[in-house]
Amino acid sequence: MSKKVIESWDKIACPICNGTTFTDLFTKDEEPFVECQQCSLTMINPRPTYASILKGYTKDYSQGYINKKDKKIRRAKRRIRKMKKIIPEGRWLDIGCSAGFILSVAKSANYDTYGIEIDPLGVKYAREALRLDNIFQGTFEEHHFDDNFFDIITLYDVIEHVQDLNKIVKELKRVLSKDGVIEIWTPDIGHWRVPEPLIEWRAISPSKHLYYFNKKTLSMLLNKHGLKIIKKRFSLKPGLQVFVTHK
Ligand SMILES: [Zn+2]
Repeated sequence: MSKKVIESWDKIACPICNGTTFTDLFTKDEEPFVECQQCSLTMINPRPTYASILKGYTKDYSQGYINKKDKKIRRAKRRIRKMKKIIPEGRWLDIGCSAGFILSVAKSANYDTYGIEIDPLGVKYAREALRLDNIFQGTFEEHHFDDNFFDIITLYDVIEHVQDLNKIVKELKRVLSKDGVIEIWTPDIGHWRVPEPLIEWRAISPSKHLYYFNKKTLSMLLNKHGLKIIKKRFSLKPGLQVFVTHK
């Protein structure tokens, strides 16, 4: 693999508390991992510009999912069985839907499904191989769905990748129906099984995982925009799995 060359960097204030003082934690692949001194959000800062980050997403990204189709379908079935107990029907948006396996199972379970994905390969597979409608290519923040439109919105391993956290959460608030639920999965830096030193954690991923939440920092971000965590699912792995509603 050739050594990457990062041409330009973005230095940002903390997206949760606007803090500008950070504690240096470590550097991996030349990217500095820091912790906000005010709210404790861990993130890469400064980080490569978003244009260069996007270049790093190769075709393998969705192809990896397609290759593991059977496993992904089984996992999707488990997730949908659990969701049925919370919201048994309605419009379901999966953000970062990749090849569409979640939506394919959700559609069979009578949900009205929508998906959005940056990777054209995932979009093509979802539309053609899985015959899903309402699959959009691009970012959720730029799509402009109608107000109060979705009963369920899922972000599985997505929020740690997004460029502008405040923009996406504001948009989630706007498109979520009055009694709707958002399910968010993201690595949990507060989990007891996160290794010491932190750099050895598998979730540490330069240019990919830009933020590392715990329940407190994710709550703060959501609260800022009128959303709240109503339930955190127990997980043996260092993953944060939460359900979110309007405040
Ligand atoms: Zn902060």
